[in-house]
Amino acid sequence: MNRQIPAFIAALMAMAAPAVAQDVEPIEIRMIANMGVLISQGEKRVLIDALFTDVYDGRFRVPTEADRTAMMDGTGEFGRSTLFLFTHSHGDHFHGPSVMETFQRQNTGQLIGPHDVLVAANGGNEIIRTALENLPVGGPFSDWQRERNGFDMDSRLMFHADGIDNLTYALTFGETTLLHLGDTDPDRADLTVWDDMDIDVVMYPVWWAQSELGQAKLRGDWADARHIALHIPAHISREDAVAHFGEGHVLVDAGERITIDPGDHD
Ligand SMILES: [Zn+2]
Repeated sequence: MNRQIPAFIAALMAMAAPAVAQDVEPIEIRMIANMGVLISQGEKRVLIDALFTDVYDGRFRVPTEADRTAMMDGTGEFGRSTLFLFTHSHGDHFHGPSVMETFQRQNTGQLIGPHDVLVAANGGNEIIRTALENLPVGGPFSDWQRERNGFDMDSRLMFHADGIDNLTYALTFGETTLLHLGDTDPDRADLTVWDDMDIDVVMYPVWWAQSELGQAKLRGDWADARHIALHIPAHISREDAVAHFGEGHVLVDAGERITIDPGDHD
């Protein structure tokens, strides 16, 4: 009888210990290329805009061959069955055939993105296209997804260009929320869509730095958040980008990392 009590307490502690440890683990943002990043906290990980091939006539960087292979095979830092998020279907963010092949190689896969991304990742499948047609784009994780992935997610549309959906993502690890804006155009998008959420890290495309409205948002409502510039053109070196934005506020080359201390948030 009294042997059961220590066993019971041990079981409770075993359940509680990992949860406590996970909360204090740092969150890491690891550069892939352009706006592509791997966000991880311990074993929890998610890739955003990370699998693509189009350099747009040399204007943008693409993933290195080593990263591309590891992402597709699910090896190294890109564990098998890592969740793939895509903001939109442009070729400097997303490549449908590569995503298809990834899920074939890994024999599993999870993908979230706007309709055209989901259709393209399924080889243009008409059944999928039809099934998606009347569904809204974006939304929060289900309880099941939250449980499975170990973090929370919400997604909302923000304007990028006519005729294409650009889905932005807020990922919450414990108390820390990171926002990835995809290719949002600050001069035409509704910049209030995330105002109900406390944002700790904003990953924005570099043209926000040249937009008055973009600057006002970053320096106003998001003044307390960590700002990280992405989508740095290929002709700008890491050195020049860091000289402009400051170390820890821009990601350029594959393998660069920014660590977020979960205690940093307000
Ligand atoms: Zn782009």
